[in-house]
Amino acid sequence: MPEPARDTCALVTGGSRGIGAAIARALAADGWPVGVNFRSGEEAAHAVVDEIVAAGGSAVPIAGDVAAPGAAERLLAELEQQLAPVGVLVNNAGVHADALAMQLEDEDWDRVIETNLSAAFRLTRRAVGGMIRRRHGRVVNIASVVGTKANPGQANYAASKAGLIGMTKTIAVEVARRGVTVNAVAPGFIATDMTEDLAGGALDDVPARRAGRPEEVAASVRFLASDEAAYITGTTLVVDGGLSA
Ligand code: NDP
Repeated sequence: MPEPARDTCALVTGGSRGIGAAIARALAADGWPVGVNFRSGEEAAHAVVDEIVAAGGSAVPIAGDVAAPGAAERLLAELEQQLAPVGVLVNNAGVHADALAMQLEDEDWDRVIETNLSAAFRLTRRAVGGMIRRRHGRVVNIASVVGTKANPGQANYAASKAGLIGMTKTIAVEVARRGVTVNAVAPGFIATDMTEDLAGGALDDVPARRAGRPEEVAASVRFLASDEAAYITGTTLVVDGGLSA
């Protein structure tokens, strides 16, 4: 059951389903009060919150499109008011809009970069100030193996995830002296709504011969958010069943 109450909380963007929901549950099980952010899945986010509360944890739903103007300020201020200042930020919200580069529309390029990368930057920028003042904080960015390995049809998504990995390293170095760590987790093929349309052969290249479970990604995030991971920063932890090996 959850550890004793903490004086900061965790924000999981896109926590209403898939990997984000599993991360919210895992952090709550470690005693973090959790803000479960969602964009459209209000009912799903409430269900995640109810489940955490029923298990003895603490959580609130936090509505908002992370890519909307002013979202970083609004989400963090709202969470500070409802729970506590954010001590763990998990930038998980992500979208894809696939097309071969020659057919990729500006709108789909911009939407994916804004949601997956720019929003994560703005949330991190807003959150690290308080973390630095408290001399403690954790930022975990959910990247992807596609950030390091080609995946035709995903130039926008790959650029956003490669950008996240680069951003992770640089901000990690900027804040390392202040007790704040910044890391990325790069999942491979995880069974969620995002991958349900993938062709049947998609698992052929995965040495483990199966899709990962959201809980297997969440376990890595939970570790990186813990005190045990205090000396790990600027790294990308790959969770892919050997796909990129
Ligand atoms: P899902 O599509 O299952 O869930 C996406 C989540 O992100 C939902 O909770 C959704 O909220 C939320 N979201 C999307 N856009 C926004 C937004 N603008 N503002 C706030 N929330 C938003 O995705 P996964 O769980 O599969 O993926 C989670 C993360 O993991 C993503 O960053 C993805 O790129 C990454 N990833 C996933 C892999 C996989 O195989 N599944 C592999 C590698 C990386 P709502 O439903 O409320 O709209």
